[in-house]
Amino acid sequence: MSNTMDVEPNKKPHRIVVVGGGYGGVTAAMILADHHDNEDLEIVVVSKEPIMETKMEMDTVVPYSADHDFCRIWLPPLFKNRNVRLVQAEMTALDTEAQEITMLLTPYAATCEYLKGDDGACLITELPKREVTQLEYDTLVMAVGANSSNPPVEGLDEYATKIWWVKDIKHYKRLVENRLRMAIEEPDATKRKELLTFVIIGGGATGVEICGPLAQSVRSRAKRMGLSQKEISISLIDSGEHVLKQLPDKSRIKADKRLEELGVKLILGVRVSKLTEDFVYLNNNTRIPRGVCLFAGGAKVEPWVSKLGLPMERDRIKINHDLQVEGFDNIYAIGDVAAYIPDGEERALPMLAQHALHMGETVAKNIIADIKGTEHVNYEGKIIGQMVSIGYGYSVGEAKGIELSGWPADMGKKMSYALCWKALGGMSMVQQRWLESSRMKKYVRKTLEQQF
Ligand SMILES: Cc1cc2nc3c(=O)[nH]c(=O)nc-3n(C[C@H](O)[C@H](O)[C@H](O)COP(=O)(O)OP(=O)(O)OC[C@H]3O[C@@H](n4cnc5c(N)ncnc54)[C@H](O)[C@@H]3O)c2cc1C
Repeated sequence: MSNTMDVEPNKKPHRIVVVGGGYGGVTAAMILADHHDNEDLEIVVVSKEPIMETKMEMDTVVPYSADHDFCRIWLPPLFKNRNVRLVQAEMTALDTEAQEITMLLTPYAATCEYLKGDDGACLITELPKREVTQLEYDTLVMAVGANSSNPPVEGLDEYATKIWWVKDIKHYKRLVENRLRMAIEEPDATKRKELLTFVIIGGGATGVEICGPLAQSVRSRAKRMGLSQKEISISLIDSGEHVLKQLPDKSRIKADKRLEELGVKLILGVRVSKLTEDFVYLNNNTRIPRGVCLFAGGAKVEPWVSKLGLPMERDRIKINHDLQVEGFDNIYAIGDVAAYIPDGEERALPMLAQHALHMGETVAKNIIADIKGTEHVNYEGKIIGQMVSIGYGYSVGEAKGIELSGWPADMGKKMSYALCWKALGGMSMVQQRWLESSRMKKYVRKTLEQQF
């Protein structure tokens, strides 16, 4: 479908509002800004924070020695010499008749404090008055992503930490560190064992990518602190027969083996039915000590999105093959928030950064086509493959149908970061991030060298 929008001389520029400064939104804005006729366009990115979190690189910041800010790209320099305006605000409502969004402005100064602050979550709740304002659009791109899911399991909210944002990793690492410190002071062996119990619920990519480096770094840290490694227990619970249900069986079996080699106890083929302060209850009528419990059991679009009056597919916005929201010529949705169902399939594409990036490219092309009056392109819905890292220097997965494991797969994983960096800022960004990541890698390797 094509939607022609004439741009006449001296006419107000065509305003494209992109809501969400993540993989999809930033890619779309960068491509639109680099479009050579962009003086006819006004590109506004509305984002809760002036930061993009590169979640696919989150596994690199799990070890103790790594700096979590590596996964936060500061947006103003990215947009500085481009025709992109960044509004730090949270979208709350949509009026499709008036073609405007409602948003809560977040004071910039408070954000700077947030960045400097040790625990962002506290400072952000201390924000002064937040102003409500409207912003008109000619074209709207919804790219607000998702959040960790919230299945109705008794006690999950109270007794498990959820993982989605960098601040969650930071919080989790602090919990683990506190436990190790308490364990050093604890003379009673049974109590010490309890303190050194770590449970991860969910053997998908997120759970596995956190479990691998956690197992390595907790053990090396404990060893340096003088704690016995034998007292540490790290368990991963998943309902499947093996972890990583999205990968071919051979890779899944290798992933199980690698986790076991890292000292992770796999509890497979069971579901968590309840959590209490002391235990995680499983649906096979057994229970294990809760310890520090992490929930990495999936993602869900936030409920406010379903109240916007847009067509929904389960909890995601229903889109056509050209990424337009069904029934709206000037609204697009991309990334995790969008439900794209390929022809012949029943389920929407999985929530992956790779899809968000490619959708960002496609939506930019289609908005330019709208303005030029040319035809839309359809989203191809294809990704090169998927690699999942399991601790330092090891990944499993497949690319173009070829299964890989160990360091070749790990190279594939790192290449996927580079593809993302290229989309975000070209080769200079690749160079800069590669250097930063190599520096960090060396540091992490040094602190892990005492073991395995
Ligand atoms: C730990 C972890 C590891 C992952 N690893 C991989 C991986 O290895 N490979 C892979 O392909 N995928 C991975 N993913 C999934 C990937 O991160 C997501 O699919 C991707 O981030 C989706 O991009 P997006 O642009 O749709 O949303 P996001 O990147 O999440 O960006 C959404 C943006 O919208 C903003 N926002 C939200 N609500 C509002 C609002 N109301 N108003 C204004 N702004 C708003 C948010 O602050 C955020 O900046 C991982 C996810 C996690 C959590």
